Amino acid sequence: MIPKPVIAIIGTTGVGKTKLSLELAARFKTEIINVDAMQMYKGFDILTNKATLEERKAAPHHLIDFVEVDSEYQVQDFEKDALFKIEGLHSQGKIPILVGGTHYYIQSLLWKASLINLKAEKYCKDEAESLLKKEKMEALLKQWEELSNKDLFEELEKVDPKMAEHWHVNDRRKVIRSLTVFHETGKPQSEWILERAKTPGEGKELRFNTIFLWLYANKAQLDTRLDTRVDRMVEQGLFEELKQFQNLSNCLPGGEGQYDRGLKQAIGFRAFDAYFCALRDELDPITVEKLKKEGLEVMKQQTRKYAKKQVGWIRNQLLPLYFNTPHFPSDTASSPTTSPLAKLYLLDATDLDAWSSQVQEKAVALVDEILKTRRGPDPTSLSSVAAEYLKPPSKLKTEPVIATWFKKLCEECSRRIDRKTKKIVDPVIVNGERAWEEHLKSKGHRSQVHFNRHKALAIIKQQPDLVNTPIDTSLPSPAGSSSSDQGITDPNQLEPSIQQASQ
Ligand SMILES: [Zn+2]
Repeated sequence: MIPKPVIAIIGTTGVGKTKLSLELAARFKTEIINVDAMQMYKGFDILTNKATLEERKAAPHHLIDFVEVDSEYQVQDFEKDALFKIEGLHSQGKIPILVGGTHYYIQSLLWKASLINLKAEKYCKDEAESLLKKEKMEALLKQWEELSNKDLFEELEKVDPKMAEHWHVNDRRKVIRSLTVFHETGKPQSEWILERAKTPGEGKELRFNTIFLWLYANKAQLDTRLDTRVDRMVEQGLFEELKQFQNLSNCLPGGEGQYDRGLKQAIGFRAFDAYFCALRDELDPITVEKLKKEGLEVMKQQTRKYAKKQVGWIRNQLLPLYFNTPHFPSDTASSPTTSPLAKLYLLDATDLDAWSSQVQEKAVALVDEILKTRRGPDPTSLSSVAAEYLKPPSKLKTEPVIATWFKKLCEECSRRIDRKTKKIVDPVIVNGERAWEEHLKSKGHRSQVHFNRHKALAIIKQQPDLVNTPIDTSLPSPAGSSSSDQGITDPNQLEPSIQQASQ
């Protein structure tokens, strides 16, 4: 039996995936399955960038706008629901179009067992044992709910010190995920990652004949587009949605100030905390307006950062898997009929004026050709960007990234008292070389260094014999020293999976 086809449109936020999906759905008379985790939640259409109702009328959309916001929908739920939808469309002779930027959802859907399978039966002898384990896990999860971030982290340090090197102590969701992997599978997550790093693709069979269309845009142009999009969201009523979110916030999963679960992970919610606090406290209008502007700036930054992460995921996770998967041939060789095949094309969506020739027409022609002939042109032949990004790796990475994980404490930022909460801030710990470099360059760190120097000088001037006294830094918290600025918790990091960890 020939495996059935699917089309997967991938790429960063704001690159035009929705547009292309609508065009392909019209051309191939088919339907769309959403693969954007935040768009699965009900409401908040502007903030989550859903296709408009009109667009959704033009082509039927599935798995969009259907999860209650006070619940949590996860990759396993998605996998199950999406497989059901795909089967339904296939039975009508339609080619499902998967579209969305939550790439690890795409990956877990299209490749069998590409994420760690936490189903208890895999690791248990029989049903009785798996029931027992389920109860044990439920008890553990309850127990963990009561623990502080620090205590949870210490648990992880005991069972999987390598993962503890990787996560920040406040990255509660990931710490819990790592603990869960250990207790479910009886093996530390870091060991899973090591194993997988040695054999990417191995044992991970594709489920369908898959045509990947990677919409790519040059970073500078994309960043400008993303900024403009945030401004447009404001015009469309972003603040109405943010207000609605503030009213709901207490009923959503995750405690106050936590943005790592469910809908709360969507870009934008966290950015306006200070603004809504100021509104509530009835601060003067000038301050309120200033905080609103700052919130928008943060939202733009987070969006750009998220886009960068998405490209990183495609390059570091999806492409290695793809290169280890059988492809539709590019030459006249005939393709095997029984095992599912893939082909991945990069389409350059940098220049929106050239959309129809560079993206739309090319996409239609490529899909058409593969469906008809089971062959497609060499993906690197399409453009110079494609040639650059789609070169198969000359040899597989054998040195896993895991070896480079380490933690670094920033002395400068770790001795101050938060202006808002009046509490001593947690030590600022940064994960990894790159995050450390970014931290040193960050506005938060630089203004803290400046402040520390200033303060020290002031003390020396007053009491010259106290040079060695530790500095009391009970004054302003530096601008922009949010946790994301320190490279620690990104509310929009939507990848709790092992694949993320092995990046
Ligand atoms: Zn610092």
